[in-house]
Amino acid sequence: MFEQEKRKIIETGIKIDRYGLIALSGGNISCRMPTGEILLTPSGMIYEELTEKDILVADINGKILEGKRRPSVDTLALIYIYSNMPKVNAVIHTHQPYATAVGLIADELPCILTTLANAVKGSVKVCPFSSAANIQMGKETVKNIGDKLAVILKNHGVISVGIDLKQALCACVYLEEAAKTYLAARAVTADIAQLTEKQIIEAVEVFNHYGQ
Ligand SMILES: [Zn+2]
Repeated sequence: MFEQEKRKIIETGIKIDRYGLIALSGGNISCRMPTGEILLTPSGMIYEELTEKDILVADINGKILEGKRRPSVDTLALIYIYSNMPKVNAVIHTHQPYATAVGLIADELPCILTTLANAVKGSVKVCPFSSAANIQMGKETVKNIGDKLAVILKNHGVISVGIDLKQALCACVYLEEAAKTYLAARAVTADIAQLTEKQIIEAVEVFNHYGQ
């Protein structure tokens, strides 16, 4: 079941690899179907090599309904996010280096680019450390994400969310671009120009109508 959506998960995986947000089989991609099932990438497989039959289907309690592969090690954390964020239909977890680097030196990536406001809706919080494959990763995400579309996981990576895979993908890609820009500026000065609250609201508003 859900062959088309499984294909979209694989294509999204190939994209996060292409954008340099993971190495080899790192991270995971998942999405929620309108009927409530969660589609998940398997553990430890290279995205380019995945086929539809490798994608798992789980229910909201994490019980595997379809698929023979071992589900992502972060399944408990992902299920926690879907259970506690009813509007979220897609979650992408990456190990993107620049955003993760910001998490080593700050508690938040300030909103310094219009594209960050567009795609993530503002500044991005750094969650306290939680070990991989632990439900705590999901709990910290839900606790810290607020009305934004991404969080940075300290010493680990990023979780982005969206109403669909496209929105979650935009969030982690533009977060990485903003993190790279922020670190380049921070290498020169600690005096970083940030967007004002009004400018952020305008940028969020513009993107709400973008492409419509
Ligand atoms: Zn991870």
